[in-house]
Order: sequence, then structure tokens, then C-alpha cells
Amino acid sequence: MSDHYAVIGNPVDHSLSPQIHTAFAAQTGEDLVYEKLLAPLDSFTESVQTFFAEGGRGLNVTVPFKIEACELADALTERAAAAGAVNTLVYGESGNLLGDNTDGAGLVSDIRNNLGWTIQDKRVLLLGAGGAARGALLPLLAEHPSQLHIANRTAAKACQLADEFSHYGAMTAGGLDQLCGGFDLVINASSASLGNQLPPLPEHLFTSTGRAYDMVYGAKPTPFVHWAHELGVEAADGLGMLVGQAAEAFCLWRGVKPRVEPVLAQLRRTLTA
Ligand code: NDP
Repeated sequence: MSDHYAVIGNPVDHSLSPQIHTAFAAQTGEDLVYEKLLAPLDSFTESVQTFFAEGGRGLNVTVPFKIEACELADALTERAAAAGAVNTLVYGESGNLLGDNTDGAGLVSDIRNNLGWTIQDKRVLLLGAGGAARGALLPLLAEHPSQLHIANRTAAKACQLADEFSHYGAMTAGGLDQLCGGFDLVINASSASLGNQLPPLPEHLFTSTGRAYDMVYGAKPTPFVHWAHELGVEAADGLGMLVGQAAEAFCLWRGVKPRVEPVLAQLRRTLTA
């Protein structure tokens, strides 16, 4: 019988994860099925327990359960513990649940491997201080940027995040209204694009070779990507991050690293068709 995996969330209908993992399985010859699992908002734990009791091998966790998944896991990877959020659950031999957070690794691998952009020695600005920003901090610091600044609509949240992560590496923080320019890479980890909004940002945010990355993705350029293009700045959306985090999860579950590029290209074609 095929091994059973799923993405659990609420809502979950929109998730592209089944498409991605099914493509990874076909590419690597792994025998698995991957489905969507809608969990009631008040019974995430029960849904997870039932899934694994029925023989499930691993779960991806999406909105709004990433923090609950972190609390539920028996053990956490360092990056999941730091993020305080889990997007991947692995069922261990002894019945233990390992929680990992592969979002930040997916972001960094998209930026480095798919886009060919460098983070090392660059001045990096991270917009937002929610779960996605938290998950990105450790993998970004591991790339050794020359500066990492967190800016958020609610400045206090950015400062709190920088404080919390200060033992991992140096970073600065503040509000969007205090932003100065000169960044080589600006990563939008806010959810503004989901509401079709652009955070209030100064035009001189980028260096002449600066680049923009929006974690949100869609059929059309997001407001942030569109704005960057209008300024003549190279920009990318977060579809590659989505495929990248899935590749990391697949590798954790199956011990095989799938190739991201063909799946990303297929997904982009489907999304824009
Ligand atoms: P959260 O709800 O935890 O945080 C949202 C953040 O966005 C907060 O910092 C909030 O600021 C800020 N924000 C919301 N609206 C605006 C606005 N109009 N202007 C400026 N700032 C705004 O969300 P997550 O961190 O979990 O997710 C952020 C985004 O990342 C989502 O859109 C999600 O889709 C995307 N994402 C993409 C992934 C991928 O694989 N591509 C993976 C994970 C996330 P404040 O604190 O002031 O409220």
C-alpha cells in the first residue's frame, strides 16, 4: 500500500501542495499518496492523531495551525523551535512526532538556487513580523548578510522579534515609517499583497542593483512585485518558496531530495494558464 501524506489546514481547498508532492513522487519514483485534510478549527489535535493512527506518515501544516502543530510535536528541529511554528510533521519509528519548519529554507533556496541571487554580504530588509518572518530569520542569518533589518507596520513587533532572535545574530528593527534606503534585497514577508495592498514604502529603498522578493504569489504580479518592476527593480514572487519548502519536507519524509525546477515551471504554467 502507498504511504499516506496530507496538508492539514482550514481552509485548505486552495492548497497547491498535493500537486507539488504528487509531482515530486512521480519524479523520484516514491510510492505515496498526498491529500488535503480540512481540520475543524477547534480540533486540530484530534485530526492529527486520527491521521497518524490510521497509518499516515507525514503532514504539512498550513494556516491557522502552525503554532498548534509546534505545541503538539514531541520534538522540534532548531529552526522550528526558533520560529515557534511547525509546517512539517514527521512520524518517527517509535511513534514520536517531529516538528520542523521548512519555510525559511524554501525561501533561501529559491533566492539562491532558482533566482541565483546572493544574500551573503548584502543589506537585507525583511518586511513583516508575523509567522513567515519568524520562520525566515534563522535561514537568512545563516547566509551571513552584512545587515538584516526587520520593518513592520507595528514597529513594536519588529523590535520584539529582533530582541528574541538577537542571540542568533545581529539585526536591527523598526517601523515602516522609519525606513531608510540602500537595501540590496527586500523580502516582503507581510501579508499585505494578500489584501492587494502595498505597504507604505519609500522609493529609494533599493540600491541600483537591489532586488525584491514577495512571499505571496499569484497568477498576476503581486502589488509589491508590480511596484518593484515599476521602479526598474528585479523582482520575484513566493511560488518558488512554496515549492522549495515542499522539497525540504519531501526530503525529510522520504530521504530523497526532489528537483524543484521542473515542478516550479509546471506550477507556474498552471497558475498563469
Ligand atoms: P501573519 O498574519 O503572521 O503576519 C502578517 C504580517 O503582515 C504582520 O507583520 C502584519 O503587520 C503585516 N501586514 C498585514 N497587512 C499589512 C499591510 N497592509 N501593510 C503592511 N503590513 C501588513 O502572516 P504570516 O507571517 O504567516 O504570512 C505572511 C505572508 O507570507 C502571507 O501572505 C503568506 O501567504 C505568505 N507565506 C508564503 C509562503 C510561501 O511558501 N510562499 C509560506 C508562508 C507564508 P502587523 O504586525 O502590523 O499586523
